[in-house]
This record gives sequence, structure tokens and C-alpha cells, in this order.
Amino acid sequence: MKKCPYCAEEIQPEAIKCKHCGEFIKQEKNEAEINKKSTDTKDIKGKGMALAFGTGIAYCSFSFTIGVILCLTGILAPIGIIVILTGILALFLSPFFGSASIEGDCPYCNTKVISLISKEGGVNCPTCQKRIVVRDKKFFKT
Ligand SMILES: [Zn+2]
Ligand SMILES: [Zn+2]
Repeated sequence: MKKCPYCAEEIQPEAIKCKHCGEFIKQEKNEAEINKKSTDTKDIKGKGMALAFGTGIAYCSFSFTIGVILCLTGILAPIGIIVILTGILALFLSPFFGSASIEGDCPYCNTKVISLISKEGGVNCPTCQKRIVVRDKKFFKT
């Protein structure tokens, strides 16, 4: 039970209209939904760096494989070398990208979402696939 804000009589929590005074009650649920438009995030520098480094390693080994194949063709060897070099570069630069990571709850489905770059932009939630806008280190619904 809750109290009607107009006449202070007890009413049902789901009541849209007060049965005592006839006033329409603003549903709290709607307010909660509006408030849930954004969720707070926290910095996860170490975790983000580790994650980004993992991606860097994956990309490096992938580009190394592709690069070696290209080198073996002979004629495409210069491209192969460039591909390998970008892989090595990605490996060394990846922790820096990860250092700006933030973690928070998805404003749609409330699962943990990690955004590798906390600057203006957005991420797609890996669980519900919805677009999350990142602004002022907060997750917003689009
Ligand atoms: Zn009332
Ligand atoms: Zn989600």
C-alpha cells in the first residue's frame, strides 16, 4: 500500500486513479524507467588493458599467419611484411587503448558491458545487441 499524494488516503501501489479523491496518480514505474536511461560506469584500467592486450595478441597472431602466407607467394611479400608489422604495432599499442576502459551495466538489459574506449562514442551490448551511447563516462540509451 502507498499513500495518495493528494489526499493521503491509502491506495494500491498500481493505482492510476485514487479511489478516494479521484486524482490521477503518476506511476512510479515510469519515473524509474526514465531514470534508468543511463547507468554509471567505473574505470577498469587494469582489466581493460589486459582485455585489449588479449585482442592485440589475437590480431597479431592472425596478421602473422596472413603475412607469412602472403610472403610465401613471393610477389605479395611486401604486403605480407606490412601486415605482420601492423600486427606487431597493434600488439604494442593495444594496452594503451585498453587503459581508457570503463565498465558498467547495460541500460537495456543490465548485464555487464565493457567499453574499451571511454571517449565520446558508443558500444553495442554483447548480450542484447542494442546500441549504448557513452557520454561523460555513463552509458545512455540511444
Ligand atoms: Zn486521493
Ligand atoms: Zn544489453
